[in-house]
Amino acid sequence: MQASRALIARQAPRSLFTNNIQSSLRSLVLTRRTYAARATTPVTPESPVTQKDPVPPLSPSTVRSPGLEYYLAGADKVPGSTVNPYKDGPSALDKAMTSFLFTELIRGMWIVLEQFFRPPYTIMYPFEKGPLSPRFRGEHALRRYPNGEERCIACKLCEAICPAQAITIESEARADGSRRTTKYDIDMTKCIYCGFCQEACPVDAIVETQNQEFSTETREELLYNKEKLLANGDRAEAEIAANLHSEHVYR
Ligand code: SF4
Ligand code: SF4
Repeated sequence: MQASRALIARQAPRSLFTNNIQSSLRSLVLTRRTYAARATTPVTPESPVTQKDPVPPLSPSTVRSPGLEYYLAGADKVPGSTVNPYKDGPSALDKAMTSFLFTELIRGMWIVLEQFFRPPYTIMYPFEKGPLSPRFRGEHALRRYPNGEERCIACKLCEAICPAQAITIESEARADGSRRTTKYDIDMTKCIYCGFCQEACPVDAIVETQNQEFSTETREELLYNKEKLLANGDRAEAEIAANLHSEHVYR
């Protein structure tokens, strides 16, 4: 009976914590023994340590890091080498002080204290809004000239360049010979806001405004027609003109 109890106790599953501690201690002891043996053994090119621990061959395709090159050069095996991770690293006293005096904890709390007295990085959106670049690509708009005439000349460059094929244009010639669109649709659910249409337009008719708050409850509301786009342009014309002017040297 006693023997079976002892057998059960020996076979009982150990906790993960116990397993980890045991394996870590085993690795530590083995590593230290290896380094101690290397430190006490006179290392020569023909030494048994060098023969027992040969440099593994590398294929030409292997990517070598500077650390690996250093290892392959055998710098840590050269007599008199100063490479010694146990000697050059933090001492046991340093590590003990860090652990027992909670210096890392105190440093972390100091950072928290610093941030506590700083102005917050967050803003009260949507009552406060952060700055936007003049190049920001938001909701689309079609622009007019100051006399109210549409800028778009129905060249269809924007339709051709659109990678998402979100733009659909139909056009006809007017009585005065000019060409204007009869239909200008953008499927905003397809649009990837790349800005290619704006870049391709020779008369700055189609632009992307800084409006990013145009979410809808239905998909149909994101199928923009010409009237909707012209209304967007009329509403944001001053802002669009200012942004285009600020960027004109780069275009
Ligand atoms: S921003 Fe890009 S994806 Fe959207 S309509 Fe213009 S060209 Fe097409
Ligand atoms: S918006 Fe510009 S690029 Fe597109 S059809 Fe009109 S003029 Fe041409």
